[in-house]
Amino acid sequence: MAIGKTKSQEIARERVKELFEQAEEIFSKDTKLADRYVNLARKIAMKVNLKMPRGLNRKFCKYCYSFLKQGINCRVRTQKHNVVYSCLVCNKHMRFPLARK
Ligand SMILES: [Zn+2]
Repeated sequence: MAIGKTKSQEIARERVKELFEQAEEIFSKDTKLADRYVNLARKIAMKVNLKMPRGLNRKFCKYCYSFLKQGINCRVRTQKHNVVYSCLVCNKHMRFPLARK
């Protein structure tokens, strides 16, 4: 495994997390800016081939890339084995396997 790549992915992961935290903070004031942070985070992740850290891939819509906030622009419901996130911006749905405890 290339050490350089792992290292840059580590840095990217930190940066992505930060951006999502910032998006979360700014969302109530400026949703457009929150979306911009999400886009930036995606670009950073893509550049180093980083999979979105767990949890973060539910914080934005994979179709329109809007930052999603439950109860505001996102509806969450549970199906048999999935959690379904409905983006209220583009009205698409994302399914995630139900987390086992
Ligand atoms: Zn959407």
